Amino acid sequence: MKSLIWISMTLSAVLAATLVLATGPTRDLLRTSTMTTPKYSAAGYDLTPLSSDRIEELASRLSEEEARILLNKGTEPAFCGTLLDNKKEGIYLCRLCNLPLFDSNAKFTSGTGWPSFFQPFDPRHIRYKEDNAYGMKRVEIVCARCAGHLGHVFDDGPEPTGLRYCLNSASLEFVERGQELPPMARPDIRTETAYFAGGCFWGVEDRFQQVPGVIDAESGYMGGKAKNPTYKLVCSGTTQHAETVKVVYDPTKVTYEDLLERFFQFHDPTQVNRQGPDIGTQYRSAIFPADDRQRELARRFIEKMQQSERFRDRPIATTVEEPGHTFWRAEEYHQDYHAKHGGSCPIPPPPAG
Ligand SMILES: [Zn+2]
Repeated sequence: MKSLIWISMTLSAVLAATLVLATGPTRDLLRTSTMTTPKYSAAGYDLTPLSSDRIEELASRLSEEEARILLNKGTEPAFCGTLLDNKKEGIYLCRLCNLPLFDSNAKFTSGTGWPSFFQPFDPRHIRYKEDNAYGMKRVEIVCARCAGHLGHVFDDGPEPTGLRYCLNSASLEFVERGQELPPMARPDIRTETAYFAGGCFWGVEDRFQQVPGVIDAESGYMGGKAKNPTYKLVCSGTTQHAETVKVVYDPTKVTYEDLLERFFQFHDPTQVNRQGPDIGTQYRSAIFPADDRQRELARRFIEKMQQSERFRDRPIATTVEEPGHTFWRAEEYHQDYHAKHGGSCPIPPPPAG
């Protein structure tokens, strides 16, 4: 009888895992494992994979149990990890290489017995691998820099992502907010951020991603009323959000003015509440400055453009919003859409002058 129950439980677990993989956002996360990882993350960390010599050197500091989990895909027993009930504010680093992996503000009580988070510190700091061990279809999560095993990710997490990153405490090291980060937990470069709304975010994100000096582009929503808006809600037109692309860039390689030029190259700023076939306020043309400096640069740029030959008798509809709007990251299936599904368009050369 017991074995029958066990078989039936195992079967339902396998079925559940299979069904989840077929439809859930983890499927989109897995797609990112086939993409080339940029050198730097949006948070400014160099993600070049560590050499095996360096990993060996770092691994010499691990306890036997940590090495079993991080290097040999081990799992600690449920309800036994030291960080399960940690309620302090701070950052969770990779125990092996100290890359920041999770923030306490994304931690939640899942009841599973392992520390659980609904999103990573930076989307690029985690890599995803198909894991078919033990007759289950799961998605393994590893550190993007040292490939250390962290745990798995499932589709039964809370809003806003619906994801549950299930971690081994032994794979993590916690640093309380306000305390000094160890050297390998500090960013390698300083980044800046800009936000542009210019129609369907798939294309705008894809084009900005190709601009030299841009580290990362992300699709999301800005300028509306609701918190944590979903695509469905935004499409209803009731929230007034605009499909917006967050552009993280290296200011020593590309300037905010260069990005403004590119933005006007990538969409038609004279169209009102539409871009080509896409119609509605979510497709409006808008700039969401990160600060007062960006707002002034954006205003001056639009004035200059309006007076240029290109926009003679064609009023520019692009609005420059006040700084301080929240960027809500869009659902996983909207991220890197063209990179995952094909259909990417090469960008034109930068405007002359
Ligand atoms: Zn690591």
